[in-house]
Amino acid sequence: MTIPLDRSAYGNAERQTGDPRRISVLGATGSIGESTLDLIGRDPDRYSVVALTGGGKVDRLAELAIQHRAELAVIADESLYDALRARLEGTGIEAAAGRRAVIEAASRPADWTMAAIVGVAGLEPTHAALKQGATVAVANKECLVCAGPVFMAEVRRHRATLLPVDSEHSAAMQILSQAPGIEVDRLCLTASGGPFRCLTRDEMARVTPEQALKHPNWSMGPKITLDSATLMNKALEMLEAQHLFGLPADRIDAVIHPQSIVHCLVYYRDGSVLAHLSPPDMRTPIAYSLAWPERMAVPMPPLDLPKLAELTFEAPDPERFPALRLARQALRTGKSAGAVLNAANEVAAAAFFAGEIGFLAITEIVERVLSESSELVGREPSRIDEVIAIDEEARRRTLECLPAFA
Ligand code: NAD
Ligand code: MG
Repeated sequence: MTIPLDRSAYGNAERQTGDPRRISVLGATGSIGESTLDLIGRDPDRYSVVALTGGGKVDRLAELAIQHRAELAVIADESLYDALRARLEGTGIEAAAGRRAVIEAASRPADWTMAAIVGVAGLEPTHAALKQGATVAVANKECLVCAGPVFMAEVRRHRATLLPVDSEHSAAMQILSQAPGIEVDRLCLTASGGPFRCLTRDEMARVTPEQALKHPNWSMGPKITLDSATLMNKALEMLEAQHLFGLPADRIDAVIHPQSIVHCLVYYRDGSVLAHLSPPDMRTPIAYSLAWPERMAVPMPPLDLPKLAELTFEAPDPERFPALRLARQALRTGKSAGAVLNAANEVAAAAFFAGEIGFLAITEIVERVLSESSELVGREPSRIDEVIAIDEEARRRTLECLPAFA
């Protein structure tokens, strides 16, 4: 059992005591980290915060650590160590800095860890958390996209519990766990279509980073917001679903649903389709992972369907959004296609934010790197460090081909 679709078959490693649950949040200063701490802060007696980590927002990290009475706060950027220490002076909260310190923070015993660092930087810390054999709520989809088989093997080896936080995968887990073992015809993830859903290709060629950061429904970190505009986020999520649910490539699909109310649809061979609905607020899937296998109350109003009036669905346009075609290719190829696709996309996204390339070039670059890296794509890593080496090589190749798209 990898993710706990069947509750009865699953031996939860978590302590069943009346003590507060020991919680760590990796990526505490980000969008998912803040939403997680918002839920935890509403019921502080139930939780005891072990470690909070952040990348660079040192003031915010210190504030959160003090507010939640964390034992330890770690900033990934080593140059900010003195600033963090100064802000935590006299609080009794331990301060540390650097990549290794983030990994060590993730290794501290906790009952539940939120893995919400953005990008491949989240691989080693999330792995360190899994090795404790406790519950890890995984928002960092890159872990599964780049290192799916390695991660799932580690989950089994350490008898850890992996709970997906991505709204579509949380939805899929909730549907699939109703009938574990029953054959699924098709798993369909929804995508909002992002801010450029109705633009022509010519218009898309001219969009700016500011426009790409205006998501119609969700409030998220900048990288995933851009990925939602290119639909690369859905490409990553299709790969994530393949590893989480062990489905063959041809049973994973995506559909555009501009309202972001339905998150996942599961098709069965008798014609039944089960859907999961919730408001577009990540606190719902986070709450599911925090309370699992129970349910907890959230501070948002319930879904008001008459007010929403309509839920619409569209087929994605492959001409304007080639990311889904690349996802299907990567799903079929397997091996390191996900790691190469993700690395090329991370580099291309950064180049777009820096004003070095246009919006359409992002997916063109990913396609170029994938098609010119068959040896790299064909590698089958068995360890996280091997995945990281593949990621680094794919980044190097992407950087090399950037000038051709500038
Ligand atoms: P974000 O950019 O808002 O936050 C990222 C966090 O990671 C921050 O705390 C940042 O300081 C930290 N970080 C960045 N680089 C780091 C590094 N090198 N080392 C250590 N920490 C580092 O991102 P987000 O939107 O919260 O997304 C986090 C993850 O969750 C991503 O993988 C994203 O795809 C996934 N996710 C996010 C949402 C969402 O609604 N935001 C939804 C589904 C999945
Ligand atoms: Mg998602």
